[in-house]
Amino acid sequence: MSLTFDDARLSQVDVGLALFQRHGLRATFYVSPDRLDARLDRWKEAVRQGHEIGHHSLTHPCTGNFTFSQGNALEDYTLERMGADLAEATVAIERRLGLRPVSFAYPCGQTFVGRGVNTRSYVPLVARLFESGRLWLCEDMNDPLRYDPAQVMALELDGKTFLEVRPLLERAREQGRWLVFAGHEIGAGGRQTTRVDTLEAILAMAADPANGFWLDTVGVINRYVQERRGRPAGTAVP
Ligand SMILES: [Zn+2]
Repeated sequence: MSLTFDDARLSQVDVGLALFQRHGLRATFYVSPDRLDARLDRWKEAVRQGHEIGHHSLTHPCTGNFTFSQGNALEDYTLERMGADLAEATVAIERRLGLRPVSFAYPCGQTFVGRGVNTRSYVPLVARLFESGRLWLCEDMNDPLRYDPAQVMALELDGKTFLEVRPLLERAREQGRWLVFAGHEIGAGGRQTTRVDTLEAILAMAADPANGFWLDTVGVINRYVQERRGRPAGTAVP
């Protein structure tokens, strides 16, 4: 199981780090580099604590149907423009935190650029640049034998109670699936917020070896699985 959080929201380090530290567990944070500056020391502390810093693009392009993305719409992108955005974000993250992310999360979980007959997938670009690419709002978990690391499925954690997510944890354990959760803020409740009580309960359950879970970062679990599947970590897809 992996717990992932997007956009470098302030509450991830203000609230989340202490929760993870208490249980000795690690998350993957997919960051938008300009958002790091408001809490740069805390993000450096997150790195020291072993959390994974993932890549979430520089300008967070999504479909122009979202009001926030009207001026930066995927429908207006080309693969070249997307490649430039990703390269710039890599430099920006490296400059701030001294590391190069190996894990990517598609902004809004969307994997296309362009529109109509000119639409292209940027999954191959992500496959060349990163060890994995995480989707968003998916319907199921990852089958370790079959999933494509460039399209890791993720289920929403925001707003969920522990009663709602518990059956997913149990099914992941029974079927040997890799369950990836994705969230945004970490707090008591509210919009795009992973509830602290839910997170505490998941961490407590995962931290006790008797419960039979393995919770770690996307980078660690994906690399483990890919090595078992016979493809060395970091090997680019042709
Ligand atoms: Zn995002």
